[in-house]
This record gives sequence, C-alpha cells and structure tokens, in this order.
Amino acid sequence: MRHWRRHGTGPLPTGAEALDEPFNAFPSWFLRITCARCGQERMVNQVHAAKSDLPLRDILAKMRHERCGGLAGKAELLTGIEGVSSRAGAADRAAG
Ligand SMILES: [Zn+2]
Repeated sequence: MRHWRRHGTGPLPTGAEALDEPFNAFPSWFLRITCARCGQERMVNQVHAAKSDLPLRDILAKMRHERCGGLAGKAELLTGIEGVSSRAGAADRAAG
C-alpha cells in the first residue's frame, strides 16, 4: 500500500485519486471537512479517525455533522502544520 508522508517530497495524489485511497495512506494528516448544510469546518486527524482503513470516499459518505446532521460537503487533506497555521483566527484569539 502506498503512503503519503506529511514531509515527503513525492508527488501527491489528485483529489480523485485520494478519494479512492484509505485514510491511513495519509498517516497523521488532517481532513478538513466543510458541512454541506451549515458550512461549518471541522478538522479530523487520521490518527483519531475510527475507520481509517476505509477509502476516503466511503468515510466522507458516512460522515454526518454532529450538530446539524449535514453531509460532508467539501473535504481537503492537509498536513497538520499547514492546517494549523492557516487558521489565523486561533492566533488572533491568543493575542487578544
Ligand atoms: Zn453542519
């Protein structure tokens, strides 16, 4: 099985290819999911995903937003570092 490391230098799969890969092909990556109903973003770490041996397509199809029951709208794979640093809001709150 192929793996994509967070700090690897190899080419990453396209979005369509990634959907057919199991989540655990991306060790320690984050999945940023945007709720199709309310638009809220969630971050799921592969390490904490319950069924990370399933293809991402299946995981997303089963996923529901706890708060509103909405389906997963948009999903994006991020390395942890990128995922955290791109959320500028967290830094603003810490400063204020
Ligand atoms: Zn929602």
